[in-house]
Amino acid sequence: MPDVDDTVERWLSEYGAPDANVATLLCDRHDPDTVAFRFVDEDLAGSTMTYRELADRSRRLATALADRGVKREERVAVLMSKRPELVVTLLALWRLGAVHVPLFTAFAEGAIRLRVESARARLVLTEPEQRAKLDALEDVDVLETGADFDRLVSDSAPWTTSETVGGDGAFLQLYTSGTTGKPKGVVVPVRALAAFHSYLHYGLDVRAEDVYWNAADPGWAYGLYYGIVAPMVGGRANLLFRGAFTPASTTAVMQRFGVTNFAGAPTMYRAMSKAATGPVPLRRASSAGEPLTPDVVGWGETTFGVPIGDHYGQTELGMVIGNHWHDDVVRPIRAGSMGHPLPGFVAAVVDGQIAVDAPASPLFWFGGYQDAPEKTAERFTDAGRWYLTGDAGRTDEDGYFFFTARDDDVILASGYRIGPFDVESVLITHPAVIDVAVVGRPDPEGVRGEIVEAFVVTSTPSEAHDALARELQLLVRDTYSRHAYPRAVHFVEALPKTPSGKIQRFLLRRG
Ligand code: ATP
Ligand code: MG
Repeated sequence: MPDVDDTVERWLSEYGAPDANVATLLCDRHDPDTVAFRFVDEDLAGSTMTYRELADRSRRLATALADRGVKREERVAVLMSKRPELVVTLLALWRLGAVHVPLFTAFAEGAIRLRVESARARLVLTEPEQRAKLDALEDVDVLETGADFDRLVSDSAPWTTSETVGGDGAFLQLYTSGTTGKPKGVVVPVRALAAFHSYLHYGLDVRAEDVYWNAADPGWAYGLYYGIVAPMVGGRANLLFRGAFTPASTTAVMQRFGVTNFAGAPTMYRAMSKAATGPVPLRRASSAGEPLTPDVVGWGETTFGVPIGDHYGQTELGMVIGNHWHDDVVRPIRAGSMGHPLPGFVAAVVDGQIAVDAPASPLFWFGGYQDAPEKTAERFTDAGRWYLTGDAGRTDEDGYFFFTARDDDVILASGYRIGPFDVESVLITHPAVIDVAVVGRPDPEGVRGEIVEAFVVTSTPSEAHDALARELQLLVRDTYSRHAYPRAVHFVEALPKTPSGKIQRFLLRRG
């Protein structure tokens, strides 16, 4: 069995080399008969695409895009749902050395404009359902899927060479989720493939015999890195489901296609647990993007027959800490913990923040935010040793990491530091509570610093709310802690969230 460090070094030297070529690494070096992607439509009709088909179609599209002037290093935006043309388009762009800028399909015009303009993209590839959102963009060329696109692919000669961009060259430019403010642009170099491969292999433990389904949307980091890029670098097949997420559709896809290895966001698991969907045996289940509440952990074990592994990462890093599944690195899960650093990363808690030891982490690749040097500077300690995540956390005596809260979300009440997530985890166990967020707001009496306030979405009619507020306060006081009970409980229709579903507590704090 090769040593873990040797394996990481091998990936890094291969993907970080000056002659690294994205199309070769992601497609051309793989067995052409291996399935590259499984596509599932809304009505559960399925199809597959092999690496041979992907290579052929992307070579032809590359010729067509080169004819349109697409060049090395050029930013090209893509606004497409999880369809075969999406992966063909990305690979065609990478053959030309161009940089993919993902646009989430649920975006409205404003979010699209922000990204297209910030990336200075002059071409957007899209699909008919999305086309109208691009009408207001000036000086942008648009190419959409459909009969003309198909003809373009079939009539163009295959592009036989691929641009070598090298390990330091860029291949993705995407934006953070905007949970704490304006989204920040992150440029991803080719050598990040080593970090992505490490998580696919050690973190998710996706094996050749698995039916892998990463249900995250490729418009965001988790879905793009681990639903498209990592499976391709590892020669594995992800399943891309085009239907909308519902607990029922998710269970149906799992059952119909025999999914064995599933990854998704906590909101997905939470919705499934509230809908009490039936048991579906899995070999692996992983969660990322937000804290995994303990109620879901217990439910997951009964439903899937395996615990859900909580994994932690950022757009800027990829996944870095986790309850990793591979036999070489697996450790017993400890309640509430996100696990240990991924092979290739060294992490610690520095000044209360989860931090990555950049020089000691061979897989660390983040090079700064696009056009925002002051934001980049905030991320690093003075000598550039530590990359600070902006998330508060702690470790226990055995090096297990625990997430407390985003640094800004930590509540300082009567001298205590309270993580909203701990309080939310208690409130969500109440059967009437569908969704909840907890924030600290200035104490109107001016004595406690901040007071804990809860924003609650319920399934009960509003007449019952006074009694329910009292019940929720007692629940926290009696089962968690007196110092953390919410002094104010607000009932709301919905919580403010990013398009990827993360709670924007800064908006609730603002009131
Ligand atoms: P922005 O940086 O624009 O405010 P964002 O931080 O939400 O948005 P992402 O890069 O998509 O953008 O998300 C990374 C963040 O998500 C982490 O910094 C952390 O706060 C949160 N996160 C990710 N995984 C976990 C996890 N397993 N447990 C708790 N929080 C997590
Ligand atoms: Mg962030």
